[in-house]
Amino acid sequence: MKATIADIIRKNGRFEIITHAWPDADAIGSAYALYMALHVMNKEVRFICPTPIPEHLLLTPAPEENLFSAPEISLLVDVSDMGMIGDIRPEGMVVVIDHHKTNQGFGFVSWVCPNKSSASEMVYELLIELDIEITSPIATNIYMGIFGDTGGFVHTNTTARVFEIANRLTLKGADPSHVANQLRKNKSTTYYKILCLAMERIRICDSICASYITLDDLDKLRAGPNDASGIIEDLSSLAGVELSIFLRDVNTHQVHCSIRSRDGISARLTAQAFGGGGHDRAAGFTLEGRAEGLVGDVIKEGLKWVRMG
Ligand code: 5GP
Ligand code: MN
Repeated sequence: MKATIADIIRKNGRFEIITHAWPDADAIGSAYALYMALHVMNKEVRFICPTPIPEHLLLTPAPEENLFSAPEISLLVDVSDMGMIGDIRPEGMVVVIDHHKTNQGFGFVSWVCPNKSSASEMVYELLIELDIEITSPIATNIYMGIFGDTGGFVHTNTTARVFEIANRLTLKGADPSHVANQLRKNKSTTYYKILCLAMERIRICDSICASYITLDDLDKLRAGPNDASGIIEDLSSLAGVELSIFLRDVNTHQVHCSIRSRDGISARLTAQAFGGGGHDRAAGFTLEGRAEGLVGDVIKEGLKWVRMG
C-alpha cells in the first residue's frame, strides 16, 4: 500500500493534508513532515487541522500555504475515522495513512499499520519510498511525532526500528533534547492548577484512577482548550494503576475522555464502548454530555475490562 500511495503522490499535483482535531505531536509531526516533503517535490499543497494547533508543537516554521482550488488528493494522516476530523469535508480523493488499531479502513486508499509506533514513522517510510531528502525541519517533525506517540520512548511501541529511525533523524538535524524539552518541560502554570483540581477529585476504584475537569473550572482558571492536555499522563503515572481515565468538558454539550492502560488493552475496549477508539493502551472518545456526569459510567465500564484482563 505504501508503494501505491507513493505512486499517487508522484502522479498528482494538488494535495490537501488533513490531520485530526485536537492534534497531538504525532498529528502535527506527520502532517508537517509530509507537507514539507510535498513542497520539496514542487506539489501544490495545503494543510488543514480542524482545531487550533498548540503552540508547543510548532517546532519548525509552518510550511508556506499554497492557495489553489480543488485538490486532487486529500491525504488524511493519523486519522482513524471521519469523526476525528470534525466538520472538515475532504475535497479530493481520500488517501489514509494511519496506525490506529480501530481504523476499519476508509477512503479510496487506506494504509493502516497498527504495528507502527506512529503516523510519523509511516511518513518516514513513505519518504524513503519516494526517495525524498530528509531535511532538518522534516527530521524534527517526524522525530517529534515518534517521541509523542511512544511517550518519549517509554511505551511498548518503542521498537528497535523506532530507535533506528530516531538515530537517522538525529543525524539529519532533529535535536532530541530540544524536542523532549518542548514536549515535556513546557507546562503552563494553568496546567498545574488544572492538575491540582484533577488530583483533588481523583477517584480510585480497584486499579482504576479517574478524574475530570469541568467547563466551569476551565473558565475560572481562564484556561484554553489545550491547557489540560497531558493531565492523563500524570494520572497514569500513579503506582499500581492499570487504567486511568480523564474527562474534560469541551464545551457546554460535549465531553472528551482520555484513557490509558498499562499492561492490558482495557483502554481501547473502554473507549470503544463509548463509540471512541485509538490504540490498545491509549484511547479516547468524544461524546455529548458533561464530564462530571459521565465519570462514574466510564469507571464502571473500565472495571469490566480491567477485571476481565
Ligand atoms: P488522547 O487521550 O490523547 O486524546 O487520545 C489518545 C488516543 O485515542 C489517540 O491515539 C487518539 O487518536 C484516540 N482518540 C482520542 N479521542 C478519540 C475519539 O474521539 N475517537 C477515536 N476514534 N479515537 C480517539
Ligand atoms: Mn498517532
